[in-house]
Amino acid sequence: MQQRTKLLIGSLASSLGIIVLFTSIAFTSALDFTRQQIPNLLRDHNQHLIEMLPERPSLEQILAMLPHHETRSDSLSVIDAAGRQLVSANSHPRQAPPAQIDSESLLTASSGYTTIGNNEYIWASTPIPDTPYTLVNTHRRAQTGLRDFMKHIGVPIGFAALISIWLSAWGAMVIASLFRKLNEQHAQLEHQARHDPLTGLPNRDALSKTIDETIAQLDGSPQGLAVCMIDLQQFKEINDSLGHHCGDELLRQVASRLNETLQAPNQAARFYGNKFAILLRNAGEATIDSIAETLLGTLENAFEIDGRCLYIRGTLGVALYPQHATSAPALLQKAEAAIFQARENAQYAAIFQALDNAGAAERLGLINDLRNALRDGQLELHYQPKRDLRNQHIIGAEALARWIHPEHGFIPPDQFIEIAERTGLIKELTRWVLETAVQQCAQCHANGRAMKISANLSAINLHDDELVPLIAALLEQHDLPAQYLVVEITETAMMADPARAKAQLGKLDTLGVCISIDDFGTGYSSLGHLRQLPVDEIKIDKSFVMDMIASEDDASIVRATIGLAHDLSLEVVAEGVEDETILQQLTAMGCDIAQGYHIARPMPAMDFIALLEKTHDDAADGPATALRY
Ligand code: C2E
Ligand code: MG
Ligand code: MG
Repeated sequence: MQQRTKLLIGSLASSLGIIVLFTSIAFTSALDFTRQQIPNLLRDHNQHLIEMLPERPSLEQILAMLPHHETRSDSLSVIDAAGRQLVSANSHPRQAPPAQIDSESLLTASSGYTTIGNNEYIWASTPIPDTPYTLVNTHRRAQTGLRDFMKHIGVPIGFAALISIWLSAWGAMVIASLFRKLNEQHAQLEHQARHDPLTGLPNRDALSKTIDETIAQLDGSPQGLAVCMIDLQQFKEINDSLGHHCGDELLRQVASRLNETLQAPNQAARFYGNKFAILLRNAGEATIDSIAETLLGTLENAFEIDGRCLYIRGTLGVALYPQHATSAPALLQKAEAAIFQARENAQYAAIFQALDNAGAAERLGLINDLRNALRDGQLELHYQPKRDLRNQHIIGAEALARWIHPEHGFIPPDQFIEIAERTGLIKELTRWVLETAVQQCAQCHANGRAMKISANLSAINLHDDELVPLIAALLEQHDLPAQYLVVEITETAMMADPARAKAQLGKLDTLGVCISIDDFGTGYSSLGHLRQLPVDEIKIDKSFVMDMIASEDDASIVRATIGLAHDLSLEVVAEGVEDETILQQLTAMGCDIAQGYHIARPMPAMDFIALLEKTHDDAADGPATALRY
């Protein structure tokens, strides 16, 4: 039954109930009222008759008067002091009060009532002054039924009932329409919470729920279930080159093609970014090839966006229930992992393969964890001081990301940066590093501690067109002059796509940001190559620095690099300075800046600020050597 009908019936029933209750209360009140009022009237009547009698009347005089003052319902009688009822010979037979009325109570009480058969008798007795007689006036009232009562007040109650029914029906309609609106709003909010606003497809949470529900329904039945994940390959390029509105339109079109291809109860959902997840019922290893063909086939035809025909490809990863996992999160994670496995094997589709290699399996588990860590702010930024060997001042620090995994503990940056690069999370990670580092550096400047902050960029960041505008906006937002920000890019990253590096670094150089070549010496480039790039600083890789005491070759490389860099007017930083001997030797070689465990290990921002304060105070107290710590 519709809620509206239920409300209507409910309110009508309750208003009818109220009317019935009201009528019965009115009815009983009316009965009580007349029982109280009639004796008064009877007493008044008695008094009036007594006044009409002569003084000290005889019994005959009294009895003679009675028949003249009786009515159809009121009868008069006299009782003597002994309680006997006395009637005159010509009295009407009804004149005496009914025999059931106890003459004792007629004498002692002034009024009362009793019900006999269908009649109710109300009486009032009044003693006749100066005589032994008492005048009794008995009113006979046919018992009043509800029907009689309704005859009198039926019309006003009927009107009241009509009005109250009308009011309650109207109220019910208003409440029903309010309920309807609330239900609509609730449904809308629920839809928003469970759907992706861009494509209208269910979102990740909704799909996870459906997968879990489906698994519960299967309840051990042999029917299989496949969770597929499609990653759109050229999506980033389309987004970057044609703009986000094209990227959004592409996602919408892919979503609608998937929707058209899939038939209920199979279901597609937007997982996140350019990834779509699909739940397929009754699917197993035997059918997966044709499924992959169908799903990837949806992307084959050109997508028409803004008058252009765009072609994209997808990579499909598949995880099967119950072979690979038995819960939604695990199936989705395995399907995502299968995408990476497909890529590693240069395939377009792959079914999840349990890995023998524990490291790789862990890495696959870490993908999701890293995404969550970034979202939940679990990463920390540590700062490793850099000392200027010409004056021993701490002139800046390198910002290094730290991830303490809740389960696995410290994860070396080399490991999670690699995951971030492979999954595209590096864009988000770099953004966070830059934001945090620039803000921290600006804070130090505001406290009167001018210093440079270095942030590492990955090769992928060089393909990110949002990077330069982001850096410009951050510098402006925190009012930090550009020359205090250093971006470190490894030699290998620069040489991976020299044209792209040149263009991106050119823009950063125009902004005034310093550019440093990290891990110099590990790649195959030469300073000659690097000269074509707008570089300000080179960082000699720690492998050469750490071994320069033991290995004459390494010492020669360090020396030569310092010389050549200086010839090209570049500053030289030596990283991996682990002891005083190396520091001395680097100073002797003319190295400008040193960074390493011997100077300080990477540390949290608060410790770095405390260190800056200490060196500043020491400098104020004594000669330049006091700046050393
Ligand atoms: P990197 O940029 O060359 O950073 C210097 C690395 O050398 C740091 O390792 C640092 O802790 C370590 N180091 C410094 N002094 C010494 C020393 O005296 N001896 C030795 N043995 N090591 C020293 P970490 O922090 O483990 O970082 C490793 C690499 O991870 C970094 O190398 C960098 O390439 C990458 N990385 C760290 N944070 C980020 C980041 O936020 N973004 C990107 N893209 N990469 C990062
Ligand atoms: Mg670095
Ligand atoms: Mg380095």
